[in-house]
Amino acid sequence: MMSLCIENIHLPNISKAKVRFFMVRADLIHPLASGNKFYKLKPAIEQAKHHKINTLLSFGGAYSNHIHALALSAKAQGMASIGIIRGEASYAKNPTLTDAREAGMQLQFVDRLTYKRRTDTPYLKQLQQRYPAALIIPEGGSNQNAVKGCMKLMAEVNELVDANIVTVAAGTGATAAGLACGTTKNQSVIAYAVLKDETLNKRIKKFIDIENKSVKVNVEPADFGGYAKLDEQVLSFILEWLDKTGILLDPIYTGKMCMRLMQQIDAGMFKQGTTIAMLHSGGLQGWRGMQQRVIRLAGPKSWNTIQSYLCRDIA
Ligand SMILES: *Cc1c(COP(=O)(O)O)cnc(C)c1O
Repeated sequence: MMSLCIENIHLPNISKAKVRFFMVRADLIHPLASGNKFYKLKPAIEQAKHHKINTLLSFGGAYSNHIHALALSAKAQGMASIGIIRGEASYAKNPTLTDAREAGMQLQFVDRLTYKRRTDTPYLKQLQQRYPAALIIPEGGSNQNAVKGCMKLMAEVNELVDANIVTVAAGTGATAAGLACGTTKNQSVIAYAVLKDETLNKRIKKFIDIENKSVKVNVEPADFGGYAKLDEQVLSFILEWLDKTGILLDPIYTGKMCMRLMQQIDAGMFKQGTTIAMLHSGGLQGWRGMQQRVIRLAGPKSWNTIQSYLCRDIA
């Protein structure tokens, strides 16, 4: 796995707005997995090792970036992993879960009603009894450990670039909260919400309060087309961005954030001289469930372009 690096992006609209724009390349930590998930999981893995626990258990959908990263992280650490997956056993053949299985993850498929109980104490107790050797990690990896892991990520970003504004795509908001807790003064975090979810603000605030920090995250809507849905506008933005910068964004998180961020830059929302660092959190593995959609919206040539990026060699 590669370490973190940053890249200065030069585009006409960015220089016109007289801001500086850097991309934090957490996508390069692994060719397909979500970079932020590795940071989120690091403290849990350390904790597990400390307590001589050798199995990680967590929850996710059939294309979950978190499940994918957890399986790969566990394997890299010589640990076992169990994935409680929402849906049918036939999903085990999809690319996400194939990677997870090949990394040694044991999959258990549950129906929607069972999956809904993933945060209920009685259900978690049952699971712990069934898998006594496992550390149970919530969906998305999003707990206070994840917040601490992302504070470390922010410290690494600060070693690479002196940014006033750090932007991140938010699902659960744990990554955004962690980054905010790791900021120094004169820095602020903007979280781009890819879900229509009024509770995101509250969740982020709770994560921050538990760390005893008095920082605030600005939340900006970026749920174009709905969660895990890719519409034509977002896809064409992503393809254009790839063409102009050589960097592929993911269809669920970073593509939507970057599109909204560019709209804000174009609208003059940022003071001249501002240095913006956008976290490319990775998640490119999510493209592999989008083949038909990409072909339908943008044609087979566009799919081939994305496909060849996914198969590139970054080592
Ligand atoms: C999970 C994920 C996020 C969101 O992280 P949260 O901590 O849940 O807000 C952002 N980008 C990518 C690529 C992800 O996989």
